[in-house]
Amino acid sequence: VKENDEPEKMTASLKFQGRRKSVAPKDLNKGNKRQSCAIKPPDVKMKKGKFGEAHRPNQKFYEMIQDFRETLEITPVSAAEQIESHKICVCVRKRPLNKQEINRKEIDVVSVPGMGVLLVHEPKQKVDLTKYLDNQVFHFDYSFDEGSTNDLVYKFTAKPLVQSIFEGCVATCFAYGQTGSGKTHTMGGDFTGKQQNSSKGIYALASQDVFSYLNHRRYTNLDLSVFVSFFEIYNGKVYDLLNNKSKLRVLEDDRQQVQVVGLEEVYVTTADDVIKMIQAGSSCRTSGQTSANANSSRSHAILQIVLRRNDRASTLYGKFSLVDLAGNERGTDVSSNDRSTLVETAEINRSLLALKECIRSLGKNSDHIPFRMSTLTKVLRDSFIGEKSRTCMIAMVSPGMSSCEYTMNTLRYADRVKELSGNSKASE
Ligand code: ADP
Ligand code: MG
Repeated sequence: VKENDEPEKMTASLKFQGRRKSVAPKDLNKGNKRQSCAIKPPDVKMKKGKFGEAHRPNQKFYEMIQDFRETLEITPVSAAEQIESHKICVCVRKRPLNKQEINRKEIDVVSVPGMGVLLVHEPKQKVDLTKYLDNQVFHFDYSFDEGSTNDLVYKFTAKPLVQSIFEGCVATCFAYGQTGSGKTHTMGGDFTGKQQNSSKGIYALASQDVFSYLNHRRYTNLDLSVFVSFFEIYNGKVYDLLNNKSKLRVLEDDRQQVQVVGLEEVYVTTADDVIKMIQAGSSCRTSGQTSANANSSRSHAILQIVLRRNDRASTLYGKFSLVDLAGNERGTDVSSNDRSTLVETAEINRSLLALKECIRSLGKNSDHIPFRMSTLTKVLRDSFIGEKSRTCMIAMVSPGMSSCEYTMNTLRYADRVKELSGNSKASE
């Protein structure tokens, strides 16, 4: 049973917060230069029939969200869409509800109408216990819904960066978000059981394209070779995943050039080579731990694909860093109040804060890059300087109501990264 005046109330409760605009759903797609084709996803109605019955813990909110969704014009990203080249690109990807969440009848509080828009329907209650939705709207370069494949996400995020390294750029792609939101799924591919199937993620898709560009006649006269390194940053220390997790030192010379001393750089000739390295490295990343995922969620993993000239000095030509960041959740968990976890959390927060500041500096074309704030930004220093830097951040969000707070944190962070870079198109 629903009250008739609800949709109006919801619209009225749309908040104006910072750059997030207060808009009625019908206005969401206005003013966007991309073409709208107004397709409603076929499953919206069906879901209501399938899961919409009573017995859901948050039935009321569920219905309010469904009502809101019916007013949305949906334009999912399509593979045919024109890809724009950005110096800094910030996107968001929503994963589907997983089995456990569906079994718990968790409600999905995130809507992705497309055109770079994402909405969070935050369930709230007034003092008189009236339930209402705080609908918050975010705008990014692209927004990917739960039906988007890794292939599609890749096409709009990392693929343009692969091409840029053949033009001599330093490109970086970050997967950012709470643990369990889909960072590794997007970067590394599917996990089937314990083994990671690395052939479907951005790592593998990028590697394949690197070799097709390498053999393209447009680039053959550059006479380049491809090298790969793969390392992890845990608690501010660097560990080489291609060399038995040996601990490496990070040094800065007097010209501010940062070096990871002794980092293994493996010469590769096929995409399969790269995938094998990733597989070996990933298993090394999690070995010896009882809770493998918990461990990997506390560290940043960085895959670097490096193009070098086949000259005497093996001159660096282009570099692509693909970064699976540590989970951004705050250490508010009571079970995690031991010292080492607190230190870990502080370190992660610091590095993510530093990362945000460095990308913002790049967006402002600032001379001052605060890269010394963390090991992560130190080793990625090249990514934040100069005309030849290209960056893409994919913010991952979980759809469930219980993740709402983390989702909001992730979106606010991505929003800040984007803030200054809205119009900074690549100069080429
Ligand atoms: P993270 O690396 O952010 O901690 P994972 O990538 O390990 O998260 O994802 C958590 C779980 O959700 C995994 O089982 C993964 O397969 C699944 N998952 C994540 N994103 C998607 C998606 N887009 N589609 C289907 N399953 C996904
Ligand atoms: Mg992960």
